[in-house]
Amino acid sequence: MTHSPITPGKTICILGAGQLGKMSLQAAHRLGYHTMVWAPEGDIPAMEMATHRLVRPYDCKVTIDEVLRTADVITTEWENIPLTLIKELEKRGGTVRPGSKVLAVAQSRFAEKEMAEALGIPTTRTIFISNNHEIEGHDWSEFFPGILKTNGLGYDGKGQYLVTNTEELGAALKDAGVDCVLEKRADLLTELSVLVARTADGHLSTSHVVENTHKGGILDTTVWPACNGEPMLMHSMLDEISQTAERVAKYLELEGVLCLEFFVDTAYKLMFNEMAPRPHNSFHASMEAAYTCQFEQHVRAICGLPLGKVEFHTGFEMQNLIGGKWEVDWAPSLTDPHARLHLYGKAESRLGRKMGHVTTLKVPQPDF
Ligand code: ADP
Ligand code: MG
Repeated sequence: MTHSPITPGKTICILGAGQLGKMSLQAAHRLGYHTMVWAPEGDIPAMEMATHRLVRPYDCKVTIDEVLRTADVITTEWENIPLTLIKELEKRGGTVRPGSKVLAVAQSRFAEKEMAEALGIPTTRTIFISNNHEIEGHDWSEFFPGILKTNGLGYDGKGQYLVTNTEELGAALKDAGVDCVLEKRADLLTELSVLVARTADGHLSTSHVVENTHKGGILDTTVWPACNGEPMLMHSMLDEISQTAERVAKYLELEGVLCLEFFVDTAYKLMFNEMAPRPHNSFHASMEAAYTCQFEQHVRAICGLPLGKVEFHTGFEMQNLIGGKWEVDWAPSLTDPHARLHLYGKAESRLGRKMGHVTTLKVPQPDF
């Protein structure tokens, strides 16, 4: 079955209103779409930019009716929008991209690992631990040192506990208070990510692979080219990552973009970490450095337009501006001609909160 494209002039509704929504809206407006944003809170970056603003809880029946009447396509800017809402919109004939099949996997770390195993994709050694699991009397040693993570709702390293013995594991599970996964901690050499786009008609486009550095579980910098320090080693790995991304996109029947995160350990083993079916922080530099930016690619993918290429024409470093210190960090970028500053307009700079980012292009200096 072929799907008619949702052409410029139609209305895109985004569920969620953070910075990813804001930058997606900028791309949607540039391509001539009308936009709606629906989120429970109004004081967040994307709200001020949408053509229609819906500041309502996600279980509001009147809003569901309004969105179904007005939006030609509905999308999400983060994966933890309630699945019940997504399914309700689908059941009542809404075009939700990506849909509940993808979001159901992306809302559970364990479901992501199960998917990877089913597809034969190497991943970290992981076990599901329900909240009421009896920790004593079980040998967990193969997972130590490990990281206990909440199975759902984690981001930017939140809901994660480093555990080295059974006692710490028990205390962490109690503190988390919800179902978790326990992962063996990998001895990381580096981290890589890729962005794949797929349309309802099955057209695919995969990005270049970028290299990420995290601090305290939060993305700090992304660079391309990836793996400059280890070019021989990484070449085949980059191909493997692209192929993996395409396999996952096909398996999930993705409509939209999907970012996959990978670990490389010190034994040079490549492991799938997690995925996010939306534009991703590690591809923000695509706005300046790629032929097609990730936000436009997402709009193209959900609307069934021809896909572009999230491939980079210029090397870059993207530096996140994280709450607690961002006030002093952004000013120098204004005097660097190769730097582009993005501030998300968040009201309050809380510790660990993503407030903006700077992309610095690695433009070769002319040799006069
Ligand atoms: P989030 O949803 O918060 O991004 P991740 O699982 O990606 O959760 O964890 C955030 C970061 O913490 C990772 O990018 C990595 O730097 C570190 N980390 C997470 N799990 C592991 C692990 N099993 N081994 C080593 N480092 C890890
Ligand atoms: Mg992550």
